[in-house]
Order: sequence, then structure tokens, then C-alpha cells
Amino acid sequence: MTIYYEIIRNRYLPEHRLHMNEVFGELLYVTNMVFCNNENCELEIDKRNAIYKQIVCIDCYFCSDNCQSYGSWSIRYDLRKRKNI
Ligand SMILES: [Zn+2]
Repeated sequence: MTIYYEIIRNRYLPEHRLHMNEVFGELLYVTNMVFCNNENCELEIDKRNAIYKQIVCIDCYFCSDNCQSYGSWSIRYDLRKRKNI
């Protein structure tokens, strides 16, 4: 619910957002933090600042260009192996 909507409906309570600050922070953490998809790194990163790449319909996030390069190759390599089973 947006603040604008809450003001129109006379439901806006500034204290509510203050009390919910910790919950909102936790929600941001749960929805945005991912592990680097390079299997040798797996650093916890914020997906809003990560390098995003879609590999064969898989959403991948990487912490750096090096991880993106090796991680992409590694994921494709694993997928190629899986096709031959
Ligand atoms: Zn990484």
C-alpha cells in the first residue's frame, strides 16, 4: 500500500512505518540477498548491485566480472554434461 493511498483513506500512521522498520529491513534482506553463482565463490551479495545474467532460462547473479566469466562457463559445462546422461 502506498503512502499516497494511505493518506487519501486517512489511514497513514507514521508510527506504523517506524515500528515496522526492522521487518522492512528483514524483508529487503530476504528478497535481495543471493549467493554468487560461481561455485568456487558463493559470496553473499545484493542482487541489486550484482552482475545479472540469464543462462538457459536460469537467473544467475555474480559478484564480479571474473566470477561471471568462470561461473557462466561452469554452469554451461554442467548443463552440457547433464544432457548426455
Ligand atoms: Zn563471486
